[in-house]
Amino acid sequence: MADRAKLLEILNRVIEDMDEQKLFLTELDNVIGDGDHGINMDRGFQAVKNQMPSYEDLEVDAILKDVGKQLMKVVGGSAGPLYGSAFKKAGVYLKGKSEITMDDFIGMMDTSIEQIQKLGHAVEGEKTMLDAMFPATRAMKESYAADGDYKKALQAGVEAAEGGVEYTKTIIATKGRASYLGERSIGHQDPGATSSTLMLKDVADLA
Ligand code: ADP
Ligand code: MG
Repeated sequence: MADRAKLLEILNRVIEDMDEQKLFLTELDNVIGDGDHGINMDRGFQAVKNQMPSYEDLEVDAILKDVGKQLMKVVGGSAGPLYGSAFKKAGVYLKGKSEITMDDFIGMMDTSIEQIQKLGHAVEGEKTMLDAMFPATRAMKESYAADGDYKKALQAGVEAAEGGVEYTKTIIATKGRASYLGERSIGHQDPGATSSTLMLKDVADLA
Protein backbone atom coordinates (compact mmCIF):
# COMPACT_ATOMS: atom_id res chain seq x y z
CA MET A 1 0.00 0.00 0.00
CA ALA A 2 2.77 2.47 0.87
CA ASP A 3 6.56 2.35 0.84
CA ARG A 4 8.74 5.19 2.07
CA ALA A 5 8.34 7.25 -1.13
CA LYS A 6 4.55 6.91 -0.96
CA LEU A 7 4.48 7.76 2.73
CA LEU A 8 6.50 10.92 2.06
CA GLU A 9 4.13 11.84 -0.77
CA ILE A 10 1.16 11.43 1.60
CA LEU A 11 2.88 13.47 4.31
CA ASN A 12 3.54 16.25 1.80
CA ARG A 13 -0.13 16.28 0.90
CA VAL A 14 -1.15 16.42 4.58
CA ILE A 15 1.26 19.34 5.10
CA GLU A 16 -0.35 21.19 2.15
CA ASP A 17 -3.85 20.30 3.30
CA MET A 18 -3.37 21.50 6.88
CA ASP A 19 -2.03 24.76 5.51
CA GLU A 20 -4.99 25.14 3.13
CA GLN A 21 -7.60 24.08 5.70
CA LYS A 22 -6.12 26.09 8.57
CA LEU A 23 -8.84 28.74 8.47
CA PHE A 24 -11.66 26.25 8.04
CA LEU A 25 -10.53 24.12 11.01
CA THR A 26 -9.99 27.20 13.10
CA GLU A 27 -13.47 28.50 12.27
CA LEU A 28 -14.95 25.17 13.35
CA ASP A 29 -13.01 25.38 16.60
CA ASN A 30 -14.07 29.01 17.02
CA VAL A 31 -17.68 27.91 17.27
CA ILE A 32 -17.29 25.14 19.85
CA GLY A 33 -13.78 25.61 21.24
CA ASP A 34 -11.09 28.27 21.38
CA GLY A 35 -10.39 28.69 17.68
CA ASP A 36 -6.90 27.25 17.51
CA HIS A 37 -7.28 23.78 15.98
CA GLY A 38 -6.31 24.83 12.44
CA ILE A 39 -3.42 26.92 13.66
CA ASN A 40 -2.27 24.09 15.92
CA MET A 41 -2.39 21.47 13.17
CA ASP A 42 -0.68 23.71 10.65
CA ARG A 43 2.08 24.61 13.10
CA GLY A 44 2.65 20.90 13.73
CA PHE A 45 2.83 19.95 10.08
CA GLN A 46 5.08 22.90 9.26
CA ALA A 47 7.50 21.39 11.80
CA VAL A 48 7.10 18.06 9.98
CA LYS A 49 7.83 19.87 6.70
CA ASN A 50 11.16 21.06 8.12
CA GLN A 51 12.01 17.45 8.93
CA MET A 52 11.13 16.08 5.47
CA PRO A 53 14.72 16.11 4.10
CA SER A 54 15.89 13.93 7.01
CA TYR A 55 13.13 11.40 6.29
CA GLU A 56 14.79 10.39 3.00
CA ASP A 57 17.17 8.20 5.03
CA LEU A 58 14.64 6.75 7.46
CA GLU A 59 12.38 3.70 7.35
CA VAL A 60 8.61 4.15 7.56
CA ASP A 61 8.49 3.34 11.29
CA ALA A 62 11.10 5.97 12.19
CA ILE A 63 9.42 8.56 9.96
CA LEU A 64 6.08 8.18 11.74
CA LYS A 65 7.72 8.23 15.14
CA ASP A 66 9.38 11.52 14.25
CA VAL A 67 6.11 12.97 12.91
CA GLY A 68 4.60 12.15 16.31
CA LYS A 69 7.53 13.75 18.08
CA GLN A 70 7.18 16.98 16.08
CA LEU A 71 3.43 17.17 16.69
CA MET A 72 3.90 16.61 20.41
CA LYS A 73 6.60 19.27 20.50
CA VAL A 74 4.89 22.11 18.69
CA VAL A 75 1.14 21.52 18.55
CA GLY A 76 -0.54 22.99 21.59
CA GLY A 77 -3.91 22.10 23.05
CA SER A 78 -5.38 18.64 23.29
CA ALA A 79 -4.79 17.67 19.70
CA GLY A 80 -0.98 17.89 19.97
CA PRO A 81 -0.47 15.18 22.57
CA LEU A 82 -3.37 13.11 21.22
CA TYR A 83 -2.32 13.08 17.56
CA GLY A 84 1.38 13.24 18.42
CA SER A 85 1.37 10.16 20.60
CA ALA A 86 -0.96 8.38 18.16
CA PHE A 87 1.52 8.88 15.29
CA LYS A 88 4.34 7.75 17.57
CA LYS A 89 2.49 4.56 18.48
CA ALA A 90 1.70 3.94 14.81
CA GLY A 91 5.46 4.18 14.15
CA VAL A 92 6.21 1.76 16.98
CA TYR A 93 3.60 -0.61 15.54
CA LEU A 94 5.52 -0.65 12.23
CA LYS A 95 8.83 -1.57 13.85
CA GLY A 96 11.25 -3.13 11.38
CA LYS A 97 8.97 -2.76 8.34
CA SER A 98 9.95 -0.99 5.16
CA GLU A 99 6.46 -0.97 3.68
CA ILE A 100 2.95 -0.40 5.03
CA THR A 101 0.30 -2.94 4.03
CA MET A 102 -3.46 -2.46 4.45
CA ASP A 103 -3.36 -4.87 7.41
CA ASP A 104 -0.63 -2.69 8.92
CA PHE A 105 -2.67 0.43 8.32
CA ILE A 106 -5.67 -1.08 10.10
CA GLY A 107 -3.37 -2.09 12.98
CA MET A 108 -1.97 1.46 13.07
CA MET A 109 -5.49 2.88 13.31
CA ASP A 110 -6.35 0.47 16.15
CA THR A 111 -3.22 1.33 18.10
CA SER A 112 -3.73 5.08 17.50
CA ILE A 113 -7.31 4.90 18.78
CA GLU A 114 -6.14 2.92 21.81
CA GLN A 115 -3.50 5.57 22.57
CA ILE A 116 -5.97 8.46 22.15
CA GLN A 117 -8.37 6.75 24.54
CA LYS A 118 -5.60 6.04 27.04
CA LEU A 119 -4.67 9.73 27.14
CA GLY A 120 -8.02 11.42 26.70
CA HIS A 121 -10.42 8.90 28.25
CA ALA A 122 -13.05 9.56 25.57
CA VAL A 123 -15.34 6.92 24.13
CA GLU A 124 -17.29 7.00 20.90
CA GLY A 125 -20.14 9.53 20.88
CA GLU A 126 -18.43 12.31 22.85
CA LYS A 127 -17.90 14.55 19.81
CA THR A 128 -14.16 14.07 19.27
CA MET A 129 -11.75 12.86 16.61
CA LEU A 130 -12.65 9.32 17.72
CA ASP A 131 -16.10 9.73 16.15
CA ALA A 132 -14.39 9.75 12.75
CA MET A 133 -11.62 7.27 13.54
CA PHE A 134 -13.77 4.49 15.02
CA PRO A 135 -16.30 4.17 12.18
CA ALA A 136 -13.54 4.60 9.57
CA THR A 137 -11.52 1.76 11.07
CA ARG A 138 -14.57 -0.50 11.33
CA ALA A 139 -15.50 0.19 7.70
CA MET A 140 -11.96 -0.47 6.47
CA LYS A 141 -11.78 -3.77 8.35
CA GLU A 142 -15.13 -4.89 7.00
CA SER A 143 -14.43 -3.87 3.42
CA TYR A 144 -10.91 -5.29 3.35
CA ALA A 145 -12.02 -8.59 4.87
CA ALA A 146 -14.80 -8.85 2.27
CA ASP A 147 -12.68 -8.52 -0.87
CA GLY A 148 -9.07 -7.63 -0.07
CA ASP A 149 -9.14 -4.48 -2.20
CA TYR A 150 -7.22 -1.88 -0.22
CA LYS A 151 -8.28 1.08 -2.36
CA LYS A 152 -11.92 0.20 -1.87
CA ALA A 153 -11.31 -0.30 1.85
CA LEU A 154 -9.69 3.14 2.18
CA GLN A 155 -12.57 4.71 0.28
CA ALA A 156 -15.05 2.98 2.60
CA GLY A 157 -13.03 4.36 5.50
CA VAL A 158 -13.25 7.92 4.18
CA GLU A 159 -17.02 7.63 3.67
CA ALA A 160 -17.48 6.29 7.20
CA ALA A 161 -15.27 9.06 8.62
CA GLU A 162 -17.34 11.66 6.75
CA GLY A 163 -20.45 10.06 8.20
CA GLY A 164 -18.79 10.34 11.61
CA VAL A 165 -18.18 14.06 11.09
CA GLU A 166 -21.87 14.51 10.23
CA TYR A 167 -22.79 12.53 13.34
CA THR A 168 -20.71 14.91 15.52
CA LYS A 169 -23.14 17.67 14.50
CA THR A 170 -25.95 15.83 16.24
CA ILE A 171 -24.33 15.18 19.61
CA ILE A 172 -23.23 17.10 22.70
CA ALA A 173 -19.52 17.38 23.45
CA THR A 174 -18.64 15.79 26.77
CA LYS A 175 -14.82 15.88 26.45
CA GLY A 176 -12.43 18.72 25.70
CA ARG A 177 -13.18 22.43 25.59
CA ALA A 178 -16.38 21.98 23.56
CA SER A 179 -17.92 20.25 26.58
CA TYR A 180 -18.15 23.66 28.31
CA LEU A 181 -20.85 24.53 25.77
CA GLY A 182 -23.14 21.61 26.59
CA GLU A 183 -26.31 21.69 24.47
CA ARG A 184 -24.98 24.60 22.46
CA SER A 185 -22.38 22.35 20.84
CA ILE A 186 -25.21 20.62 18.94
CA GLY A 187 -25.41 21.57 15.28
CA HIS A 188 -21.66 22.02 14.90
CA GLN A 189 -19.16 19.52 13.57
CA ASP A 190 -16.12 18.60 15.63
CA PRO A 191 -12.82 20.10 14.46
CA GLY A 192 -10.73 17.05 15.43
CA ALA A 193 -13.10 14.63 13.66
CA THR A 194 -12.75 16.92 10.64
CA SER A 195 -8.95 17.01 10.69
CA SER A 196 -8.64 13.25 11.07
CA THR A 197 -11.01 12.77 8.13
CA LEU A 198 -8.87 15.14 6.03
CA MET A 199 -5.78 13.09 6.81
CA LEU A 200 -7.50 9.80 6.01
CA LYS A 201 -8.69 11.28 2.73
CA ASP A 202 -5.11 12.13 1.81
CA VAL A 203 -4.09 8.53 2.48
CA ALA A 204 -7.00 7.22 0.38
CA ASP A 205 -6.28 9.62 -2.50
CA LEU A 206 -2.61 8.73 -2.78
CA ALA A 207 -2.01 5.19 -1.43
P1 ADP B 1 -7.88 22.41 22.40
O1 ADP B 1 -9.25 21.83 22.54
O2 ADP B 1 -7.05 22.14 23.60
O3 ADP B 1 -7.91 23.85 22.01
P2 ADP B 1 -7.48 21.66 19.65
O4 ADP B 1 -8.39 22.79 19.36
O5 ADP B 1 -6.22 21.62 18.86
O6 ADP B 1 -7.15 21.61 21.20
O7 ADP B 1 -8.22 20.29 19.39
C1 ADP B 1 -9.59 20.13 19.66
C2 ADP B 1 -9.99 18.72 19.22
O8 ADP B 1 -9.36 17.75 20.03
C3 ADP B 1 -11.47 18.46 19.38
O9 ADP B 1 -12.18 18.90 18.23
C4 ADP B 1 -11.56 16.97 19.60
O10 ADP B 1 -11.73 16.27 18.38
C5 ADP B 1 -10.21 16.62 20.14
N1 ADP B 1 -10.28 16.24 21.55
C6 ADP B 1 -10.40 17.05 22.62
N2 ADP B 1 -10.43 16.33 23.76
C7 ADP B 1 -10.34 15.02 23.38
C8 ADP B 1 -10.32 13.77 24.08
N3 ADP B 1 -10.35 13.69 25.40
N4 ADP B 1 -10.22 12.63 23.35
C9 ADP B 1 -10.15 12.68 21.99
N5 ADP B 1 -10.15 13.81 21.28
C10 ADP B 1 -10.25 14.96 21.96
MG1 MG C 1 -8.92 24.49 20.32
